[in-house]
Amino acid sequence: MKIVLFGAPGSGKGSQAKLITKEFGLPQISTGDILRDHIQRQTNIGKIVEAIINRGELVPDEMIIDIICDRIKKEDCKKGYILDGFPRTLEQAKKLLEITNIDVVIYIDVSIIEVERRALSRRICPSCGKIFNISKKIIEDCDECGAKLIQRDDDKIDVVRHRIEKYFSQSEALIKFFKKKKLLKTVFSAESPEETYKSVRKILLKI
Ligand code: AMP
Repeated sequence: MKIVLFGAPGSGKGSQAKLITKEFGLPQISTGDILRDHIQRQTNIGKIVEAIINRGELVPDEMIIDIICDRIKKEDCKKGYILDGFPRTLEQAKKLLEITNIDVVIYIDVSIIEVERRALSRRICPSCGKIFNISKKIIEDCDECGAKLIQRDDDKIDVVRHRIEKYFSQSEALIKFFKKKKLLKTVFSAESPEETYKSVRKILLKI
């Protein structure tokens, strides 16, 4: 099963991807995680994309498409995968459907206000990647591996606003495109990832 998770930054794509991986055993391909890994290792790609990501801009289509083409050829993708954060532009979406077939695009619908609130209160574990929301309860350490949680540089207020604007400027065209291809299924983002997952799961069990 090949799944695309589509939604604004902070809509919960990463959390949904992790829940799908747990139940369906499909690898999560997060372009954001791949790029952050390049930055951490200071590869050629990492050096190019670091400033772009820190400004909240999108990485050039050709670069991200190459990354995806390489990644989906790997052995663990034979039975399918979850694309989290790709495609983000119409160009990327068109290219994706040229190189492979996709079973479903799950659009996680959430308001701009909610997305901003969530992105700003997101913390991540730099060690295992678990995502936390600190809006209701201050959490400092990862409950899975004990590492100190961090805030991504691009989750800071000005950058978040820019990323959200960028997302909403592209999203309408992408939603239209996937609707036309009869691939789009919409779920409304609930208060907790587990609640949202009930709707996601229903869709996946029908495929
Ligand atoms: P994310 O973790 O998905 O929020 O991605 C973090 C950042 O990586 C984004 O703000 C972009 O700068 C970059 N990025 C991730 N995926 C893509 C993509 N499909 N196209 C262009 N840039 C991307």
